[in-house]
Amino acid sequence: MIANYHTHTMRCKHATGTDEEYVLEAIKHGYKVLAFTDHSPWPLHPFESASIRMDIAELAEYVDSIQLLKKKYKDIIDIKLGLEAEYFEDRIDWLKRMKELFEMDLLVFGNHFHMTIAYGTYYAFYDNTHQVLNHYRDDSLAGLKTGLFSIFAHPDIFARSIRVWDDHAEDMSREIIKCAKQQGVYLEFNLGGMRSRAGYPYLPFWKIVAQEKAPTLIGIDAHSPSDLSDVKSINEARKILKDLNIKVTDKIAD
Ligand SMILES: [Zn+2]
Ligand SMILES: [Zn+2]
Repeated sequence: MIANYHTHTMRCKHATGTDEEYVLEAIKHGYKVLAFTDHSPWPLHPFESASIRMDIAELAEYVDSIQLLKKKYKDIIDIKLGLEAEYFEDRIDWLKRMKELFEMDLLVFGNHFHMTIAYGTYYAFYDNTHQVLNHYRDDSLAGLKTGLFSIFAHPDIFARSIRVWDDHAEDMSREIIKCAKQQGVYLEFNLGGMRSRAGYPYLPFWKIVAQEKAPTLIGIDAHSPSDLSDVKSINEARKILKDLNIKVTDKIAD
């Protein structure tokens, strides 16, 4: 791996290691680019919690820490600052303002939740099984069309919530993939899902990516510095993508 654009920090409450430990691990294993894209905070509704993301009060400190590392290691590795965020229609302008205010290099689209942060709205275990495909499609298309995001993380995460892969799933996947291609957003083959055997990456989805020739990259989704050097999952992903005849982009243009 030359570059990884999907790196978390301890602030999200389910990752380990200091920010600098991620940088040192990346340097040790030959990365040229490391983007920190931790789970974005959101201005929360009264019934929401930041249990899997940084608190809003931590955002400025996160930015400072990454900027400091960026300067410290600038001759060795290109460190980028960003966030992984959902598409929430009522709050997306706030995210846009934060990106501008803190001069972030990129945002990664992690379409985890529909409208609010709650267990039942998590697209990996979606309560409304009747509407999961429609809701996921609508949020995906809206998020992709904001122009805010460079990468669509685990675009196939919804596959965990469905029992059968039917024409509806196929059609909405194609619509999402075509939209990403049109918007110039990279689809991420997510190693977090691969490491935990979570049910994604889901091959029927990636067969459509292959057919549509949509831009693709591999994302470590690092929640521990050692994830960056997990050669086993990286090689497995490369083999799957090669077998599907999908061209992988190693490094995206600045
Ligand atoms: Zn996470
Ligand atoms: Zn992530």
